[in-house]
Amino acid sequence: MTALAARSMGYDIHVLDPEAQCATRPVASRCITAPFSDVAAAEDLASQCDVVTLEIEQIHPDVLDAVAARVPLRPGRAPVYIIQDRIRQKEWLRAQQFPLGAFVAAQSADDVADMVRTHGACIAKSTHGGYDGRGQVRLREPEQAAEAWQALGARPCLVEAMVDIHYEVSVLVARSPSGQTVVYPPSRNHHTSGILTWAVVPAIISDDMTTRAQSLARAVTERLDIVGLLAVECFVTRSGELLVNELAPRPHNTYHHSERGLATSQFEQLVRAVCDLPLGEPTVFAPSAIVNLLGDVWLQGNEPAVREALLVPGTRLHLYGKAGARAGRKMGHLSAIGADSQEALGRVLESYRRLSPATVDSFDVEEPVLARISS
Ligand code: ATP
Ligand code: MG
Repeated sequence: MTALAARSMGYDIHVLDPEAQCATRPVASRCITAPFSDVAAAEDLASQCDVVTLEIEQIHPDVLDAVAARVPLRPGRAPVYIIQDRIRQKEWLRAQQFPLGAFVAAQSADDVADMVRTHGACIAKSTHGGYDGRGQVRLREPEQAAEAWQALGARPCLVEAMVDIHYEVSVLVARSPSGQTVVYPPSRNHHTSGILTWAVVPAIISDDMTTRAQSLARAVTERLDIVGLLAVECFVTRSGELLVNELAPRPHNTYHHSERGLATSQFEQLVRAVCDLPLGEPTVFAPSAIVNLLGDVWLQGNEPAVREALLVPGTRLHLYGKAGARAGRKMGHLSAIGADSQEALGRVLESYRRLSPATVDSFDVEEPVLARISS
């Protein structure tokens, strides 16, 4: 999606991806198939580019250094290095005094057990490579610590106390090399089993919470000195606290529909930022919402009912061209725009219901989400 935005602005695209059939292949004029730890391949990429950016933070620091020695790397090594290790990221956030839930960097199964004894229900998260809820184990009892420790590879891991979440929001921030900063309106997000199911912008939260979330995200971005995009994922607790969950130095799933509803999509904005162009306005032209399409949609026996889904006004189907549907794998999304956030969300959920009635149950849309979201 970033490559498509760059193309429409006249840029040529080269890409490095471990998968030969990567989603960018149809858009890129050169694809290098190599792991994110391959320094020589990264040097080869950089040797033919004017600027390099990334859309995954799990890139070996030696690769980041090798690229940065040749061409501007945006975002740079320092913020990516902090973010790519969950323990390093949380400790950095704590050192900067940003608001966080309780956590510990566990060095042993005993540390995990102690954390559960002190705080009750917890989530243990691997330091590297986790996404979409992978690399995470939920625990209720200290007796589950040994098993969780093994499941995460018997390596140091992050253990967080379970936060009493009222709702989740994210805020996208863009920053240019000259320091121009654009803060997007917050997105309100819903997860099922650790995977984002739907998101809507504007977030349907109070003006006060909007301001708090935006100023928190701006402060984190400036402290990290990032060039490009930073998404700050937050929890709002039942007692009204705003906590940072985690950071992503790249386009974020909760703003994929920004290309439908906002004056400047996150993809165009990333291109503008890394190419040192003036940043665009984050003005909302139309409230917009997204529902993710997981591999499950293609594994349920019936073909997804695309025609029925697209009869819902304001909707669009986006497929990433990934080969091989697997349960829990993000294959695409539905987006919708509407007159207000409730209409956009209602439309995209209805479109999903028509597309894949068999997976609706697992999708958590049977709950009266629209009533709940407006409360
Ligand atoms: P993604 O790639 O979708 O951002 P992730 O795998 O990087 O997810 P997290 O953001 O850490 O993982 O967790 C995914 C979801 O699990 C969160 O959005 C939230 O719904 C839930 N979750 C994570 N940590 C906690 C916590 N400490 N307390 C309560 N819920 C949590
Ligand atoms: Mg997350």
